Amino acid sequence: MNDTPKKPKKVLNKSKVKIPMREQDPKNRIMNFDEVPLGYNADEAHQEALRCIDCKNKPCVAGCPVGIDIPAFLTLVGQKDFEGALKKIKEKNFLPAICGRVCPQEDQCEMVCTLNKPNKGREPGGIGRVERFLGDYAVEHNLDIMPDIAPPTGKTVAVIGSGPAGLTAASDMIQKGHDVTVFEALHKPGGVLFYGIPQFRLPKEILLREISGLEKMGVKFVMNYPVGKAESLDSIRERFDVVFIATGAGLPWFLGIPGENLNGVYSANEFLTRVNLMGGYKFPDGSDTPVKKIKRIAVIGAGNTAMDSARTAKRLRPEVVYLVYRRSRLEMPARVEEIHHAEQEGIDFNLLHSPIEIIDDGKGAVGAILCQEMELGEPDDSGRRRPVPIEGKVREFAVDTVVIAIGQGPNPLLSADCPELERDDRKGTIVINDLMQTSFENVFAGGDIVTGGATVILAMGQGRVAADAMHRYLMTGDPSDPEGEHI
Ligand SMILES: Cc1cc2nc3c(=O)[nH]c(=O)nc-3n(C[C@H](O)[C@H](O)[C@H](O)COP(=O)(O)OP(=O)(O)OC[C@H]3O[C@@H](n4cnc5c(N)ncnc54)[C@H](O)[C@@H]3O)c2cc1C
Repeated sequence: MNDTPKKPKKVLNKSKVKIPMREQDPKNRIMNFDEVPLGYNADEAHQEALRCIDCKNKPCVAGCPVGIDIPAFLTLVGQKDFEGALKKIKEKNFLPAICGRVCPQEDQCEMVCTLNKPNKGREPGGIGRVERFLGDYAVEHNLDIMPDIAPPTGKTVAVIGSGPAGLTAASDMIQKGHDVTVFEALHKPGGVLFYGIPQFRLPKEILLREISGLEKMGVKFVMNYPVGKAESLDSIRERFDVVFIATGAGLPWFLGIPGENLNGVYSANEFLTRVNLMGGYKFPDGSDTPVKKIKRIAVIGAGNTAMDSARTAKRLRPEVVYLVYRRSRLEMPARVEEIHHAEQEGIDFNLLHSPIEIIDDGKGAVGAILCQEMELGEPDDSGRRRPVPIEGKVREFAVDTVVIAIGQGPNPLLSADCPELERDDRKGTIVINDLMQTSFENVFAGGDIVTGGATVILAMGQGRVAADAMHRYLMTGDPSDPEGEHI
């Protein structure tokens, strides 16, 4: 007779749709910088986890760029073992509270979820929402779940840039027993997570807490240290056994139209940095950095950066925030959730409008923005329908501020200091091989500096792949040597 107790049968939640997440009311939230979605409580997370049918193929795991065992952590949440679930996530991702908030799950794990059948009215599992709950649960219960750290190898690693790519590589390398130092140009760590993504989408306290976990593991942070100015890459290469460059894509693009040098024109980076990193919205009582008093503002673009800029501007309480985009709604690159939130908050969307001039108010400042009206033509190289001007149709928006949020290129500082490091001449990105190794043997690179502007989780995925290759390189001299994995 078999005495093994039978595994209790999971009682599924057969709801076709995700358990909704509570949010701040749009009328209230535009008056503050507090977080908009309020997160699940334990019961809601439990109910959502019970929607996972634990299917055979587990496509969600392959859909996650860092390969989190999603069904396993959802099963544990379904058993109300929140600590166990957190441990399971942390095997692959030490930033659950962040990824649960900002990852584009709808294009990754949730898109491929077996439950996801929009034509049958069935939504995927709310993987991001449960992940976020677990990250927040750790904070509320002061749980410091630390991974195991291998014995010291005596090898040293320099990581340049503290965005998600750099942080992931730092976390993985310290766990493999190496001595890791992160160099960051700014005075706060986190890259775009700190200076770009606003407080109402990703509270800075959460970010700093998740990063403090790395310090507890032994990672050293050197802030206010722009490599290429404070110290050359060559010198860092000599001081450390291996170097990981993760300097991101922080160089703003401009439109190249007349009037872009007028007072009152900001790049999205500058605008968001003033408000998020320097706390400009608290000026003068809580911050030394002012933000221009805005009455009427136009934000150009339709990606996450544009939505963040428009929604940030709204909270500075101007009369109107225009969003100006040259294509149609279908082509908007921002996350659906961000577009929805921006609309709820009263951002005035002006699609199929392309700026052609920023007009002087007569005193060297912005007085208006002139836009060409567009229609959609044939698809272009990107597969999206090309915007084509409608002859003779222009429109002027009276504004005193313009924020340009049309994309960013790779940070050039390091490459300028070290021209021998191979770059893509057209894009300015650092060239790497399959193992994330650059043209210098002991220098690897990953994240937006390699891909151009992408996503948090892709940057993290690259940090992980690079860490594995750097470890093999440190242990065997060859980043492709599988023997290196086991040392
Ligand atoms: C406003 C905005 C909103 C976004 N929203 C989302 C979102 O909702 N979801 C999502 O998935 N992605 C989003 N993204 C994209 C995502 O944030 C990036 O893809 C990701 O942060 C890239 O990570 P990274 O580590 O490569 O670089 P970054 O996050 O850019 O970090 C690079 C770091 O390197 C530092 N650095 C640069 N040069 C040097 C140097 N010479 N020496 C030392 N340090 C240096 C920089 O100061 C910075 O801290 C957003 C981007 C922006 C701009």
